[in-house]
Amino acid sequence: MVSRVIPVDPFDLVIFGGTGDLAHRKILPGLYLRYLSGQMPEGSRIIGAARTEQDSDAFRAFVKTGIDEFVAEDKQDSEAVERFLSHIEYVRVDAKGTDGWSDLKDLMRDGVIKAFYFSVAPSLFGDLAERLHLNGIADGESRIVVEKPFGRDLASAKALNSVLAEHFDETQIYRIDHYLGKETVQNLMAVRFGNILFEPLWNAQYIDHIQITVSETVGVGGRGGYYDKSGAMRDMVQNHLMQLLCLIAMEPPAQFDPDAVRDEKLKVIRALDPVPSKDIVRGQYRADGDEPAYREDAGDPNSHTESFIAMKVQVSNWRWSGTPIYLRTGKKLRARASEIAVVFKDPPHSIFGVQEGRRGNVLVIRLQPDEGMNLRVTIKEPGPGGMRLMEVPLDMSFADAVGGAGDDVPDAYERLIMDVIRGNQTLFMRGDEVEAAWAWTDPMINRWEDNGDIPEPYDAGSSGPDGSLALLVRDGRRWREVK
Ligand code: NAP
Repeated sequence: MVSRVIPVDPFDLVIFGGTGDLAHRKILPGLYLRYLSGQMPEGSRIIGAARTEQDSDAFRAFVKTGIDEFVAEDKQDSEAVERFLSHIEYVRVDAKGTDGWSDLKDLMRDGVIKAFYFSVAPSLFGDLAERLHLNGIADGESRIVVEKPFGRDLASAKALNSVLAEHFDETQIYRIDHYLGKETVQNLMAVRFGNILFEPLWNAQYIDHIQITVSETVGVGGRGGYYDKSGAMRDMVQNHLMQLLCLIAMEPPAQFDPDAVRDEKLKVIRALDPVPSKDIVRGQYRADGDEPAYREDAGDPNSHTESFIAMKVQVSNWRWSGTPIYLRTGKKLRARASEIAVVFKDPPHSIFGVQEGRRGNVLVIRLQPDEGMNLRVTIKEPGPGGMRLMEVPLDMSFADAVGGAGDDVPDAYERLIMDVIRGNQTLFMRGDEVEAAWAWTDPMINRWEDNGDIPEPYDAGSSGPDGSLALLVRDGRRWREVK
């Protein structure tokens, strides 16, 4: 099935940090793909901005290397690449100084949407916001896009929010969490609120528990120094897993509108109970043959930062009281997979007698790889031998239903950037959401930092530390094996 492409209005998009890794690998190749699909109109321009001294031709050559390297071969169309590159300019700008700002102002056009992507360290956000205003480059209609990490605790997130708020209204600020741009994540809302089938069962009466897993096979490798200052809680739970939790647990918004959706997500975060130490397991991967242990990757032999975390979370409201949500995420695990599993309760009475090994229905929402959903249902095992039951997946994967999510469906960055141009904030985090998330995670982080808590070692290629398995076994449950 070919996806329907609705072109956006012409825009000038300035990418501060245009010479950086994120711009090279994700933002610029993503924009090329949107151009190729016909969504980016000819009247649009992309302006790279950074301190590196170079002209627009040199920057275009840099953009081309990103397209060569990070865009699939079947999407490499040399003519289209050349046309795309003709929409690109470069301006040398120093976020902390006066250099380049008047050049940037001269480049900007009236009558098109103006967006500014802050693909730089968060310490520069305030400088950029201030200079955009002082130099009269941004106006009340402009949009700014900011990358994670949005703070490292509540105090720093508040400081970032207030520095941005000095120059931009909340309706102009787009805080990116690329998980929210994933097709399946949006499908989660469509499935929950577009069907009558699931919502009546979507509560503690029918759902035994929920598991949210984001599992990676890679270690922290080259970014060990950066990662060691954050750890799995700050790097993954506070943002990505929290967003997934919100979408799975929120009440139906009155309409699919940015503030209605974000209001409901915020209510979930505010309803989260503090998590006691006994319900949190932190882990650190061991060395594996020639592969270094986490502490070597981090460059600190005494590091107490977690490369894995599992926790049992309770949403204290009428819908979820008594139904835990288990979160786990980590590096150097067995599989690279992200999924949400909604595990339903057994039927209240089995007319078939006690069935060995029988379990309730499970709805699995896979985010990666192979985005899709499947529902495990109990059926009769075919053939003679009486009423023997078995479980089979009722597959709702995109691949079968809509002819593959791969080719025509934009990836998360592409979609989110186009949402910025369209002025749709639904899939972006609001300032109060981010602050509420830090307000929930801060006490846990402070507790283990104050107590000098030492993470439990685990083997590379495993499912994490033993304590993580025990966390569920204790409750008579077990983690699903992700593949
Ligand atoms: P990076 O490779 O270190 O790039 C940083 C960019 O900032 C460079 O283009 C640099 O260019 C520019 N810059 C630094 N100081 C500047 C100044 N004073 N004025 C103007 N430009 C300046 O970092 P990155 O990996 O692209 O990450 C950018 C942001 O995205 C960070 O906040 C990061 O946490 C976030 N992020 C990155 C990824 C990723 O996969 N890379 C993923 C999620 C979030 P010059 O040296 O030429 O000035």
